Amino acid sequence: MNGEKAANLLKEFQPDENGFYGRYGGAFIPEMLYANIEQLKSRYLDIIAGAAFKKEYFSLLKDYVGRPTPLYLAQRLSAHFGASVFLKREDLCHTGAHKINNTIGQILLAGHLGKKRIIAETGAGQHGVATATVCALKGLQCVVYMGEKDMARQAPNVARMKMLGAEVIPVMSGSKTLKDATNEAIRDWIGNAKDTYYLIGSVVGPHPYPDMVARFQSIISDEIRKQLHEQTGTSLPDYVLACVGGGSNAAGAFYHFLDDRQVQLIAVEAAGHGITSGKSAATTQLGTDGILHGSRSLVMQTEDGQVVEPHSISAGLDYPGIGPLHAHLFETGRAKFLHATDTESVAACIQLARMEGIIPALESGHALAALAQLQLKSTDKVVICLSGRGDKDMENFALEMLNT
Ligand SMILES: *Cc1c(COP(=O)(O)O)cnc(C)c1O
Repeated sequence: MNGEKAANLLKEFQPDENGFYGRYGGAFIPEMLYANIEQLKSRYLDIIAGAAFKKEYFSLLKDYVGRPTPLYLAQRLSAHFGASVFLKREDLCHTGAHKINNTIGQILLAGHLGKKRIIAETGAGQHGVATATVCALKGLQCVVYMGEKDMARQAPNVARMKMLGAEVIPVMSGSKTLKDATNEAIRDWIGNAKDTYYLIGSVVGPHPYPDMVARFQSIISDEIRKQLHEQTGTSLPDYVLACVGGGSNAAGAFYHFLDDRQVQLIAVEAAGHGITSGKSAATTQLGTDGILHGSRSLVMQTEDGQVVEPHSISAGLDYPGIGPLHAHLFETGRAKFLHATDTESVAACIQLARMEGIIPALESGHALAALAQLQLKSTDKVVICLSGRGDKDMENFALEMLNT
């Protein structure tokens, strides 16, 4: 699939054989998972480059997910910001966000590896829903670990997973949130290494997950290049913007532009109540080098290495780290990292709804909010990855509208 093109990417933006992007990445895993990770590492590239895999992957992206998603020139938004603003409509994917591009890829991979049982962890529940969806599609057993606290906060997504036939296991340990769910999922994988595939939802985790997920999401920038060329005569925009939780929609939107230095890549993190408020999820601003979820990256942690609970109004950005590729893009300056607060994201979502008739996810609202921070010229072409739709966030929007 995108393997051929990926092979042409500059070495600088590909992981080395141990999964390092510069000093970030790697696979810091318990000894007992070594065989699983080795199997995945030695086979994923061949499997996803194979004809059978590619045929099924692209046919499902087209007929099940609904790809290609449109690249839409938002006329009124463009007039407002004084540049050509294009929206990459990942919100129109089946299940309402980009996450399904990755879960489709990994469920097919699991099939090629002969795995019959799928496990995942989820925080907000969106990755759990995307995983339960593809397990239903393939008739595979699906077990999702979720912190008890998150299950209470995200009840509608728990109901969706159950409707799709998944078993949702509440995690009672620690803070009863995402990192505890991750620990339980890894424990399960250790105990069931033979038949079980661990399906990770972003460009995080031990090598080869970050590279694998980036490749599955790279369909986003592959389409952007073609669609922009059709619409404007050039395949290179001046800016590409995307919000960053773990970083998968951003990795996908940046991927095929990484070597085109004239394209400015803008990653937007969740500042929550503000960077210095103590309630934030802006990892590049607040994080230090550490190991989270099996790889070395930037992590929000205390001096003695305890992970700090992040905060964002958008559940999908509420993560105390970023994928190792992004830590590398930050360190090398290839991508610029901006941030937007909860309030700024809500305002940007309401603005898009009223100017374009599109209600975006609160996560995507962060990318939209960063538009106002750029010094745009009238000739600039700006592509924003609209990672998901806002139906799930209506309660927050309704609250905000009461207040204004
Ligand atoms: C999960 C999610 C995100 C954040 O995840 P990334 O891996 O950073 O892309 C962003 N937007 C939406 C709509 C999501 O569901």
